[in-house]
Amino acid sequence: MEEHCPRCECHGHIFMDGVDFRRARDLHRYRPDTAAIRTHLAAYQTRGIRYFRDGGDPFGVSLRARELAGEYGIRYVTPAFAIHRAGRYGGIVGRGYTTLGEYRALVAQASALGADFIKLMFSGILDFAEYGTISCPPLPTKEIRELVRIAHGEGFAVMAHVNGADAIRAALEAGTDSIEHGYYMDEEDLKLLAETGAVWVPTMAAIAPFAHRPGCRPMVVERLLDEQAEALCKAAAVGALIASGSDAGAVGVPHGAGLAAEWALLEQALGPAGCAVIERGNQAVRERFCRK
Ligand SMILES: [Zn+2]
Repeated sequence: MEEHCPRCECHGHIFMDGVDFRRARDLHRYRPDTAAIRTHLAAYQTRGIRYFRDGGDPFGVSLRARELAGEYGIRYVTPAFAIHRAGRYGGIVGRGYTTLGEYRALVAQASALGADFIKLMFSGILDFAEYGTISCPPLPTKEIRELVRIAHGEGFAVMAHVNGADAIRAALEAGTDSIEHGYYMDEEDLKLLAETGAVWVPTMAAIAPFAHRPGCRPMVVERLLDEQAEALCKAAAVGALIASGSDAGAVGVPHGAGLAAEWALLEQALGPAGCAVIERGNQAVRERFCRK
């Protein structure tokens, strides 16, 4: 599948190095480290990857990467930073708000920095020791609706980190343009996914490495991957859009190689027909996640 499909990394974080989060964070803390960015961009160029959608970072690294990406033949889009509610998950990739007024100000900041779209954090992360558990409660449905409405009103598409059936449903009903991760997606969510035309980026390559990490149970990781694969099959069957994104940069997901790992998992889940499915989803991401 990999050879024939356009190579798009639809979810990555160029500021992370796929190995050591603290080291990467410290490297960029005061100023984006151009040498590190170039190393990662070269890893994409080498593999013929021509498109990169960043999931955000707190230091302006993705903005610097966008300036350099053309030299590597890569079309690069970024939200500048991701936006989360203060006290909830998301601080590692962006900035937080406590009131809707502060949120509006962050959208204006992203806009001033030249963001291509807005990245929002609606839920926590998966717990790999305890099936069914997510690290923090999701944002209330009403808040999700407001966040998306405001971003759309400013002319931005919305990429949203979201796990859990109810939060995914709220995100889809609010008009979120892409669902990132989307674990624990249920039948109703799948129906809505197809109806709304939102794109799902399942990021399986980011989950797989947890199977052998301390504090994680391999059986939980396997179950999550199996259920994600099953949901993907159903999503493809009802004509939903699915795109390839590995969460490259996260620990265990190297730049470049992460997308190959994602492709392998997508192929396993969707079979040979998967290429055409992913091609459609990637095309939708490329078209929608740029400033109008
Ligand atoms: Zn991410």
